Amino acid sequence: MKAFKKHLSLFVAMIMLFALMATGCAPSSKTYVGEGKGKHGAIKVEVTVEKDKITDIKLLENTENKVLSEPVYEKIKNLIVKENNANVDIVSGSTATSKGYIEAVQDALKKAGLKLSENKIAVKPLEEKETTQEYDVVVIGGGGAGFSAALEASKAGSKVVILEKMPTVGGNTLISGGEMNVPANWVQKNLGLTNDSADLYYNDTVKGGDGKGVPEMIRVLADNALPAAEWLRDYVNVKFLDNQLFQFGGHSVKRALIPEGHTGAEMISKFQAKADELKIPVKVETKAEELLLENGRVVGVKASNAAGQALTFKAKKGVIIASGGFGSNVEMRKKYNPEMDEKYLTTDTHGTTGDGIVMAEKLNANTMNMEYIQTYPIANPVTGVISLLADTRFDGAILINQEGNRFVEELERRDVISKAILKQTGAYTYQLWNQEIADITNNMDSHKSEYEELVEQKLIHKADTLEEAANFFNIPIDSLKATVEKVNEFAKNGKDLDFNHRGKLISLEKGPYYIQKAVPSVHHTMGGIVIDKDARVMDKDGNVIKGLYAAGEVTGVIHGTNRLGGNAITDIVTFGRIAGQNAAEEK
Ligand code: ADP
Repeated sequence: MKAFKKHLSLFVAMIMLFALMATGCAPSSKTYVGEGKGKHGAIKVEVTVEKDKITDIKLLENTENKVLSEPVYEKIKNLIVKENNANVDIVSGSTATSKGYIEAVQDALKKAGLKLSENKIAVKPLEEKETTQEYDVVVIGGGGAGFSAALEASKAGSKVVILEKMPTVGGNTLISGGEMNVPANWVQKNLGLTNDSADLYYNDTVKGGDGKGVPEMIRVLADNALPAAEWLRDYVNVKFLDNQLFQFGGHSVKRALIPEGHTGAEMISKFQAKADELKIPVKVETKAEELLLENGRVVGVKASNAAGQALTFKAKKGVIIASGGFGSNVEMRKKYNPEMDEKYLTTDTHGTTGDGIVMAEKLNANTMNMEYIQTYPIANPVTGVISLLADTRFDGAILINQEGNRFVEELERRDVISKAILKQTGAYTYQLWNQEIADITNNMDSHKSEYEELVEQKLIHKADTLEEAANFFNIPIDSLKATVEKVNEFAKNGKDLDFNHRGKLISLEKGPYYIQKAVPSVHHTMGGIVIDKDARVMDKDGNVIKGLYAAGEVTGVIHGTNRLGGNAITDIVTFGRIAGQNAAEEK
């Protein structure tokens, strides 16, 4: 019995030791919590220290963009743990987020009583083992068009790579609202809306671009929008709200699907997950610089990466240009449309500099509609960033000028509203809505950090009364009240006698109110590379450039003078898929 007890206690002791080993927590290790300030708020981490050595960093809390921040955290964490040094330089392209994370780790180490090393280390970019690599399909750009193309090419059996010049994927797709126009979609059915069709969508899009888009390409878009959305939902696992739609300006009916979270992050994170599943390498900080031509056919891409390597990516079947527009390239904007100069900020990411257009033009590719550059009417006057919080405009928010008067129909096309704003005092607008409208749009939670930033910048004010709202921005109260009374009457009678609002005006009788200051900002470049129905790039003589495809904002065939809201996602996914499918078929 005694021997049994002795064995038992030995057994228990061994189990305890195993349990300790399994949790990886040696008895001498201790954890410390630290906090830093990221782009969108606090970043909290827990740092494990064992005998003055940093052994692990866990993320406890953060409100940063998941897709953009996670690779940055991972890189910094690995470096800190490997070097046992938290004196790390910020990561370029992710200044605020990396700074906040490093601050949080340093704060935790301070609590641990550890001194910071004097030796500052930089996060090194990844080096490629092979400077020449062979694939079937090479995709330039890791936005929505690039991912759609890559997933389809891979599904069709091709060996695919995505080259992305920025430190993180996503492009403009990621920072957009992610809404996608789809005629006769399942949410319309859920809501009992049966008056939409591919034909109606086709007509709206042709008209929206003043007839300057290519009709047969718009037909492809209209006919393939629903299958593209179903593919996103069923294959890529993108979650769309099943009981809410947007009606953007220029559309006859509500037809824009809304992704969960009301941003493109839902799309890009699901794209990335699918690419991981299909084992598609995504090479970030890798910039495509030149298309390689052999015997009249595109056979690869020359690129360079942040580690300073010159790289060649050979493409047995094809190269797909999905590098986005040129909204962030002021010189290029001015070249095609002198009006779009420095006075405009941009809603775009830094990567949208028109590289794909320049590369394709060197191979005699044709371009069209280059002069048509769209401004988004409601953007932050300090940063140029698009206001997604102000999507309340699609549910009844009104636009007023400094004099307190409405001056344009709120659901007009973006170019019309932008031009109207620029004619007002100070070339800005105010957007006014109340809690009832905020509840219909239901996007305050998704865009909480934008709201907080606007409050800090004194660009938005929540007021209990119209007097308070008017006071905040020095708007004459009598004219604001008169404007709101008219809107209330129009809302009651269902007819906007002043501007013929095509949606539904909502009574602004009851507060609280939100009033936000905004300006137009360069948002989308409608022009670009000419492609055919198979997404093949055409040259200036009307011939196909063999082995070369393009999709997304880099192309110029769909939107004419003006892209309708919600049409970018439809365009990039539809033609991204077509480009990927056809490149994979190439012999
Ligand atoms: P789209 O909506 O057409 O997919 P996005 O703006 O979402 O366009 O994505 C385009 C992506 O292409 C961006 O992430 C951008 O950084 C990337 N990109 C632009 N130029 C290059 C280049 N020369 N090499 C690699 N990636 C590029």
